[in-house]
Amino acid sequence: MNTRDILRDLISFPTVSRNPNRDLIDYCAALLNQAGAEISIVEDKKEEKANLYATIGPRDRPGVLLSGHTDVVPIDGQDWTVPAFEMTEQNGKLYGRGTTDMKGFVASALHAACRASAMELATPLHLAFSYDEEIGCVGVRSLIDVLAKAPFRPLFCIVGEPTSLAVATGHKGKTACHVSCKGHEAHSSVAPDALNAIHLACDMISFIRNLQDEVCENHSHDQAYDIPYTTLHVGNIQGGVALNIVPGQAGFDFEIRNLPEDNPDQLLARIAGKADELLANVKPRFPDAAINMAVTNRYPALSTPEDESVVSFVKSLRGTNDTIKVAFGTEGGLFSSELAIPTVVCGPGSMEQGHKPDEFITLDQLEMCDEMLETLLGRLQTGL
Ligand SMILES: [Zn+2]
Repeated sequence: MNTRDILRDLISFPTVSRNPNRDLIDYCAALLNQAGAEISIVEDKKEEKANLYATIGPRDRPGVLLSGHTDVVPIDGQDWTVPAFEMTEQNGKLYGRGTTDMKGFVASALHAACRASAMELATPLHLAFSYDEEIGCVGVRSLIDVLAKAPFRPLFCIVGEPTSLAVATGHKGKTACHVSCKGHEAHSSVAPDALNAIHLACDMISFIRNLQDEVCENHSHDQAYDIPYTTLHVGNIQGGVALNIVPGQAGFDFEIRNLPEDNPDQLLARIAGKADELLANVKPRFPDAAINMAVTNRYPALSTPEDESVVSFVKSLRGTNDTIKVAFGTEGGLFSSELAIPTVVCGPGSMEQGHKPDEFITLDQLEMCDEMLETLLGRLQTGL
């Protein structure tokens, strides 16, 4: 089977993050079994979703890891002109949900694993396929726990998220946080006797907006990013029942997308400090007032130094001298910071097409990815 055939099969599994991915993982395991791979499957608690880790070649030494996620974003509310969970080929493009983000890379990696089964590898090839990446790099964490206890870890990791096959050495980290504000409810005609929870939430939000200005002015800048500084943003707000009731509850969600140079915990501490200050003012009159902050999801930034050998290694596979940094997050930050595996992001397709209706990858990109991985297999045969 070539990469295109494998991709067609992968697209037919509707592995939107809320759905199980087990059938897709079983499909990959069957292919890899035929290729003589050593396979471990790390299931979630409900046994509906799983990560897969496979090794082709020698088992007694570390190799090169190809990492990809198997879940895709939903198609709800999107206007598709081709079937989303069927691969359609038109004018040198392959359409379908996940073609670019990132089943194209997963298909190419599986194809490389099948090719490797007929070779004598001196350095092994590892594959890591995860679930629940699209909801904040959630699924891969159990696989990382398993790898942390393994006798050795991969030498290098290539995360195949779509970079049009450019070599990306960095991305921002992300911290998502929910804030709930408790005030004191009353009839709106006596509003000054009550504590308006929406007003509390707005004071917090104003602080976050001012903090963004401060970060933009005074914190690190990295011009390799489109937005060259750490960003803060409120994406959701809830509160209030009716206009004639002073609301007792309000809440909002915000996120920090940090440059590796900025510590998100320091920003969270500043925001928590503002909550303390607001509460100190109102507590004497409203002892039940509260502002609670809870981190709901986070993953670290990726910041691989340009002189790390993984960078020159993947540059040489691609025949390029350039590197980039990407706006989106990946599992690479976790592989790098939790397991100390030198990591870059390099995969086929462009994120311009990711998450959109009529998502596609060009056949050119898929072929170039196959070529990169064929070059990798050559290196693994000689040994690293
Ligand atoms: Zn992705």
